[in-house]
This record gives sequence, C-alpha cells and structure tokens, in this order.
Amino acid sequence: MATLEIRDLHVSVEADGGSKEILRGVDLTIRSGETHAIMGPNGSGKSTLAYSIAGHPKYEVTGGSVTLDGEDVLEMSVDERARAGLFLAMQYPVEVPGVTVSNFLRTAKTAIDGEAPKLRTWVKDVRSAMEGLRMDASFAERNVNEGFSGGEKKRHEILQMELLRPKFAILDETDSGLDVDALKVVSEGVNRVRQGNDVGMLLITHYTRILRYITPDFVHVFVDGKVAEQGGPELADALEESGYDRFLTPAAG
Ligand code: ADP
Ligand code: MG
Ligand code: MG
Repeated sequence: MATLEIRDLHVSVEADGGSKEILRGVDLTIRSGETHAIMGPNGSGKSTLAYSIAGHPKYEVTGGSVTLDGEDVLEMSVDERARAGLFLAMQYPVEVPGVTVSNFLRTAKTAIDGEAPKLRTWVKDVRSAMEGLRMDASFAERNVNEGFSGGEKKRHEILQMELLRPKFAILDETDSGLDVDALKVVSEGVNRVRQGNDVGMLLITHYTRILRYITPDFVHVFVDGKVAEQGGPELADALEESGYDRFLTPAAG
C-alpha cells in the first residue's frame, strides 16, 4: 500500500518576463488501487499539475509538497521519480532518434528495476501487451515517437505503463484525439493495469467520454488552479449534463 500526497501545491511559470501562478493550492491524495479522475476546463492547470509532479524544469514549485510514502518527490531528479514508481505519460513525448520502441522499453525497464528483465519472459510480456493494444509487431522496431500518429503515441504510453508497472501513473489527456475504437483499446489497456496490480491512477481529462470505459473511484473538478469540488463517478455524469459553467464564476476568469 503506497500513498501519493499533494499538499497545498503552488506552481508558477515564467511568462512574458514575469512569473504567473498557475496552481494555487492543490490538495489531492491517491492511494494504491485507487483511480482518480481530474476533470476541468481548458487552461485550468491540469497539465501543469502533471508536469510539476513529473519535474518539468519550466514549472517552479513555490509552495506546498508532493510526497510518495513520505518521501519528498519534489527533491527527486526525474530518473529518481521513475525509480520511485511514478509513471508520467508525458515524460517521454519527444522523438528519440535511432532508438527503437523495443530498445527504449527494455532500457527504461532496466533503469527502473535496477536490473535487466529476463529476456524470455520480457519478450513474451512485450508481445502480449502489444497484442492487447492491437499493435502490430513491427511497431517495436520503429523509432520512438518518430512519425507516430496521435493514436500510436497514446498506445505507446499505455504499452510503457503496462510493462513498467509503476506504483502511480498519471495520464494526461490520454483520450484526446482518439476515435471510439482506439479509445476502447486504450481504455482496456488502462483497465488491465488497474486489475493486474495495485496501481494508483490519476486520469486527467477534459471530456467525460473516457470515464465511460474507465470508472474512477473519485472525481475532482479542477478550476482555476485548484480542486473546486470532489465526489464519486456520479460527479462525472453531472458534468456531462451541465458542463463546467457552474464552476466558472466571473471572478475566476
Ligand atoms: P490545462 O491542461 O488544464 O488545459 P495548462 O496547465 O496547460 O491547463 O495551462 C494552465 C495555464 O498555464 C494556461 O493559462 C497556460 O497558458 C499557462 N501555462 C502552462 N504552461 C505554460 C508555460 N510553459 N509557459 C507559459 N504559460 C503556461
Ligand atoms: Mg494556498
Ligand atoms: Mg492540458
């Protein structure tokens, strides 16, 4: 049982020569086995939260804390965060020239576990995860993110998550740009990870449609840099009906 705890997190970015506060006191606790959805309008700071936990250098933490079982995540290097069991889908969004998906996955797995995976089981695990995500075997020999379509990028994220078996996974807009078939395949992959181990999941999304396939335990409505309301899955249904309007006061703009 592990706990990822975000306390009164304040984060700023440099913009137009000044510093702009984006996160304004985020509180959120995720335990092993729980799936949390963060939903909110565009520009509310959802990705900023994900990047801050990932340790992106553009985002300056000006207050509050992020801890994993009491360990200070914000003091960790990006590599240390991964080894501690944090998986952040947006961590490797860039092209990695000359590195195949297959080599990339094996290198990441070795770095995180501290030893190379046993070849025979590893090959089997990769094959079965790729089949589950309806990925052609040839995908493993392509260079990471080089010419990947939107859907291929998302599948690759889920493939990484399935194979790296993190304690906590943060998926930012995994549903964006997917057609219904791809959304189903990707959601099934997420659900396999949820069932197969005791992962804590933070699912960031603007739309409710992915939550039809992945039922969260908790829903947090994110507005203007913090959690404005929280509830169970029924909160997502209410948002589907009414949108975010009732959370947007004129002062919040
Ligand atoms: P969301 O993911 O909810 O759409 P973001 O976290 O992407 O919101 O953005 C929140 C706000 O922070 C926006 O006003 C955005 O312009 C600003 N912002 C985010 N990242 C940066 C950045 N790297 N530089 C400047 N402004 C940023
Ligand atoms: Mg505050
Ligand atoms: Mg975003």
